[in-house]
Amino acid sequence: MMKLSGKTAVITGSASGIGLSIAKLFAKEGAAVVIADLKLDAARAAAAEIEREGGTSLAVEMDVTNEAAVKAGMDEAARHFKHIDILVSNAGIQIVDPIEDFSFDHWKKMLAIHLDGGFLTTREAVRHMKALGTGGAVIYMGSVHSHEASALKSAYVTAKHGLLGLARVLAKEGAAYGVRSNVICPGFVHTPLVEKQIPEQARTLGISEEEVVNNVMLGGTVDKEFTTVDDVAQTALFLAAFPTNALTGQSVVVSHGWFMQ
Ligand code: NAD
Repeated sequence: MMKLSGKTAVITGSASGIGLSIAKLFAKEGAAVVIADLKLDAARAAAAEIEREGGTSLAVEMDVTNEAAVKAGMDEAARHFKHIDILVSNAGIQIVDPIEDFSFDHWKKMLAIHLDGGFLTTREAVRHMKALGTGGAVIYMGSVHSHEASALKSAYVTAKHGLLGLARVLAKEGAAYGVRSNVICPGFVHTPLVEKQIPEQARTLGISEEEVVNNVMLGGTVDKEFTTVDDVAQTALFLAAFPTNALTGQSVVVSHGWFMQ
């Protein structure tokens, strides 16, 4: 029995990393998946791969910080598949720097992608869900940094904490029309986003790349292991397929025990 048969899921930032893994798993579980990403070529390649594997997929160019682009992309998805049942607001980047060196442009860019993106995609998805009256599930890609702080990550930690607030407000508002809202909070996952950080942090902190991995990234885990894209995708599937509205307004931490709530 497939867990998401008949559902349509829009997943932002799904041409790569965690989002791509969620898109592939959701497609295997019967959902039509919309690969919404800044990079259209990569989104098309991901959608084609899903189709080759027997899934149903549509690539949509979407910059989640752009109000018109989010509306156009979400409308295209709804026109194509007739309804939107699941939103995974996942697109994100990382910029690390000490606060005193953090440029205001970088700060605004980070908040725009993580928070404006979360808000704009939520608003458009919820408009479609509410109009159809069939309810839905919204999942935000938070982080252990939705609960914990780390040096050099002022904008990221601020934005990821902010997503908890947005998710909780949507849980309260969405209850009236059957929309659930939850946050997944992964620990470090080996994706291009993290690959880029290893040499950057080594330079800034004056330590080796191995020390960044073992001490900074995995130092707080119970077993010194990275969380995997599949761990996060399985958590997203659990939240998307949950059969009732009991599970809403929560954050689920998948981090090898780095953060325990
Ligand atoms: P990734 O770099 O592999 O993928 C991010 C995707 O987002 C890319 O395809 C990129 O093109 C897209 N993107 C970037 N800016 C965009 C925009 N403005 N509009 C639309 N798409 C955009 O990164 P990832 O590691 O898979 O990260 C995905 C999410 O998971 C992010 O929100 C990240 O903060 C979060 N996260 C990652 C980790 C980790 O360790 N990798 C841990 C916790 C949370």
